Amino acid sequence: MPYLSLVVPVYNEEENLPLLFAAIQQVTRSLKKTWELVFVDDGSSDKSLDVLRSLVKSDPQHVRVVAFRRNFGQTAAIAAGIDHSEGEIIVLLDADLQNDPADIPLLLSKLDEGYDVVSGWRKDRKDNAITRTLPSVMANGLISWVTGVHLHDYGCTLKAYRRDALEGFRLYGEMHRFIPVFAHSIGARITEVEVHHHARRFGKAKYGLERTLKVLLDLFTVKFLLDYANKPIYLFGGAGISFIAIGGLTLLYLFLRRTFQNVAVLGSPLFLLAVMFIILGFQSILMGLIAELLVRTYHESQHKPTYTVREVIRSDKRKK
Ligand code: UDP
Ligand code: MG
Repeated sequence: MPYLSLVVPVYNEEENLPLLFAAIQQVTRSLKKTWELVFVDDGSSDKSLDVLRSLVKSDPQHVRVVAFRRNFGQTAAIAAGIDHSEGEIIVLLDADLQNDPADIPLLLSKLDEGYDVVSGWRKDRKDNAITRTLPSVMANGLISWVTGVHLHDYGCTLKAYRRDALEGFRLYGEMHRFIPVFAHSIGARITEVEVHHHARRFGKAKYGLERTLKVLLDLFTVKFLLDYANKPIYLFGGAGISFIAIGGLTLLYLFLRRTFQNVAVLGSPLFLLAVMFIILGFQSILMGLIAELLVRTYHESQHKPTYTVREVIRSDKRKK
């Protein structure tokens, strides 16, 4: 089994691939570690797949290609690449040469210091300032604040992971940028290093401003999963109890007014509002209970523990 797996998602990058491969060969030669390179062709419509085939031919010992039936998106491509890789260390990078393979040794040296995740930071980013870099800076700040995992650049694909930091969670939608956050939630040690970034020379960027919106929506899901995936009733029940309390206090106010000021309860729009809040409150608590059932189904049907163990320490002398 190789020590290092390089995982590269590819979507219409025919001109970039040979250059990328040359750059990768150059660094891996200097690394003196066993390695493999897993390309995932994400349903490219140009000649990318043919180029990848020829790369496998030219270096069958190291190169492997997973070809999707259609375009499933960068996150799916990354997930498939990880699933098909075997190395103890996984390094993700883009196929478009915007990430520089020459930074890989730096990432690996950080892993050797005892980190489980090393995140690349494109400090000097070479993308369109208004549609990409600026929204990305804001999104990064928000993610860092909301999740409590403090990184400058979640969106940078170039990151290195110890395989066990990736176990226990799957990636949906556009969520590859949240891998460090999930890894953190299972107890991984995380750091970041500045990496080089180059402007795209060939091919087109596949994303624009709309991506920021998806990231924001994903952030809701991630925050919910992080804080409540094992105890949804705390969220739904908390909201439910607050709604019932608001409704109850409003009703109390209406009845007091009825008693002391002789104002009809039913005549006030507040009455309707109070009843609505109370119904909403009970609904919310019931939803929380259903969510609790789902949590149990999730963990117990798949024998997934609700914790992660780094190691078990015990003495060999213990009697069997
Ligand atoms: N990519 C992919 N599937 C897609 C879109 C992109 O596999 O549907 C790959 C693409 O080939 C590249 C990486 O994901 O290797 C990043 O894409 P891009 O350079 O367009 O994103 P940016 O660098 O602008 O964030
Ligand atoms: Mg790019």
